[in-house]
Amino acid sequence: MKGQDEKAVDAMKDGVVVRPVNSVYRRDSAFSYACHACSRCCHDKVIRLNPYEVDRLAMNRGITTTEFLSRYTESNGTSLRRVEEGACVFLSRQGCGVHEDRPLVCRLYPLGRRVTAEGEETFHELTPHPRTEGEYGRGGTVQDFLTTQGAQPFIEAVDRYVELVGSMAVKLHSVAANDHDLLAEVKQATEGVDQRHDAILRDWTDMDSVLTQYCLERGMTVPDDVTERMPLHIRAVTERLDKL
Ligand code: SF4
Repeated sequence: MKGQDEKAVDAMKDGVVVRPVNSVYRRDSAFSYACHACSRCCHDKVIRLNPYEVDRLAMNRGITTTEFLSRYTESNGTSLRRVEEGACVFLSRQGCGVHEDRPLVCRLYPLGRRVTAEGEETFHELTPHPRTEGEYGRGGTVQDFLTTQGAQPFIEAVDRYVELVGSMAVKLHSVAANDHDLLAEVKQATEGVDQRHDAILRDWTDMDSVLTQYCLERGMTVPDDVTERMPLHIRAVTERLDKL
């Protein structure tokens, strides 16, 4: 005899999916999700990227982050480009073409993650595609799901970049306070997305560009290991901010 949770999963297969998308989960909450690779979640989504994710994806394709940002992203390099019918640029007939290096939002799906200013972390269910073939259950925990998805390095990266962007915003706003033109550019770069101001954003977030300049000035070799490159990128940006 099936339990309540399994019945709920069966109900999803009858057609339109009706899920309680406002549940709040923590890492020890009961949750499981079985992806059946229908790829419907890879359409019409804004797949946000941070420099760590761009770096991994660029390495995956054997190109620089500068080239990757130009070829595969939109909205100032902050999200993956979408192609025909809203499909992610990396969706192929076989599924995700960059599975090993897919970004955090793809690893977390169908969950979203929030972290408050006090550092409290919660997860919530995103509204699924109405014909998703994914199966929800409660046979594990959110932590189990994160482990299976290899999400932790990506979570640590996004947390570090959120902190860095916060510092950048504070510093740049204070530096630009008396310069209206610069302030307008800083606001676009740190608060919004505007193609007219892509230069300022790329100048800070294009990891290869930043690291090449930083290492050249110090007679260093640019590291090729992504786990060394991210902290060096953060250090380069932080030192640049400190000099403003
Ligand atoms: S990166 Fe892969 S998993 Fe993420 S939306 Fe694109 S094709 Fe789908």
